[in-house]
Amino acid sequence: MFTDTPDIAQMREAVHALCNDFPGSYWREKDRERAYPAEFVDALTHAGFLAALIPEEYGGSGLGLTAATAILEEIHQSGCNASACHAQMYIMGTILRDGNDEQKQQYLPKIATGELRLQAFGVTEPGSGTNTLGLKTTAVRDGDDYVINGQKVWTSRAEYSDLMVLLARTTPLDQVEKRTDGLSVFLVDMREAVGNGLTIKPIRTMINHSTTEVYFDDLRVPAANLIGEEGKGLRYILNGMNAERVLIAAECIGDARWFTEKSSHYAREREVFSRPIGQNQGVQFPIARSYAQTEAAALMVRKAAAMFDGGQSMAAEANMAKMLASEASWAAGEACMQTHGGFAFAEDYDIERKWRETRLYQIAPISTNLILSYLAEHVLDLPRSY
Ligand SMILES: Cc1cc2nc3c(=O)[nH]c(=O)nc-3n(C[C@H](O)[C@H](O)[C@H](O)COP(=O)(O)OP(=O)(O)OC[C@H]3O[C@@H](n4cnc5c(N)ncnc54)[C@H](O)[C@@H]3O)c2cc1C
Repeated sequence: MFTDTPDIAQMREAVHALCNDFPGSYWREKDRERAYPAEFVDALTHAGFLAALIPEEYGGSGLGLTAATAILEEIHQSGCNASACHAQMYIMGTILRDGNDEQKQQYLPKIATGELRLQAFGVTEPGSGTNTLGLKTTAVRDGDDYVINGQKVWTSRAEYSDLMVLLARTTPLDQVEKRTDGLSVFLVDMREAVGNGLTIKPIRTMINHSTTEVYFDDLRVPAANLIGEEGKGLRYILNGMNAERVLIAAECIGDARWFTEKSSHYAREREVFSRPIGQNQGVQFPIARSYAQTEAAALMVRKAAAMFDGGQSMAAEANMAKMLASEASWAAGEACMQTHGGFAFAEDYDIERKWRETRLYQIAPISTNLILSYLAEHVLDLPRSY
């Protein structure tokens, strides 16, 4: 469990080789322009890495979450950023787990080749935030369609995706038997929808993340695009979140290792007062501490992924992995900033960009407080706080 299998080690080498074609200068330019890294996404798609989790019968590699975490970790450790396309790996899980045979046959093979991009995931709304049950977007059945009205926010990659997995309310909250019922999942074909009831507005953010606001105005979606049973959508979305958290955690581990490598290298080379700055314990200790945090978090990522692959329930481990890894990457980023002194602020070092990028993961896809609340309530049996 503590070391890679030969197959995974080989795959890491292949990912690393691919990433070598996308150096810091590539990412700096994209960041400056807030441009989508299409060439990088194409390269990953053609190499098949984004289809890692799709079963072979649908044209994917049929690998497990352990292998997928290795791919994303390696991308981030190489200085690249998978956020432009990581969702292509896991959003399809909603179709795979909860879609019907026809939907699986129709979509999964095309998602595996990249012919169809399923990268957008519309859950968060401006009014309800983390309180998913409070979302206001509605889907009302009308003949063979559902009619969607409402708004989502932070729908990342919507402009670079053909399909969106959307969570909308099909039964008002005051009419459901169980609080968690009444939400449904739809697969929205955005190629047809944009301009016909769907409007996408980009949000400029502190990182290059292609995130957007999405407005639904009487958008008609065929009833055939309902995933699973009407009213049970929250469960389907929650089922996918554990895998997502572990994959994001792996990206954080990669970021942390990138920072630590930079920090130790610079601390050995940079001389001030006629000796390497790394000779000072005040410089060494934050690097060493964040290294220890990273190794501990990486173990939790491995554990969560192994449990997922073994079919065990692992919500607590997925949450802990995401929290610990995002904190470790932040600690490593902070150590890297401080170690580089003023040069950390120079764009050419890539540190300030990586530092901005890794900060996201203490907030999205779920914020640290909500993870702590989950552990308190569901693992430690403490009273629900909200
Ligand atoms: C760049 C970016 C990309 C994103 N991509 C997507 C995407 O593709 N699809 C999507 O659906 N969403 C996406 N999100 C949304 C993301 O999942 C949310 O921002 C995140 O879950 C936090 O929700 P919120 O922003 O509404 O914060 P809020 O729910 O408003 O919370 C604000 C703060 O209050 C704290 N808080 C709230 N309630 C409690 C409580 N009961 N106890 C303790 N603390 C509490 C939170 O921890 C947080 O720190 C993205 C966000 C960003 C910034």
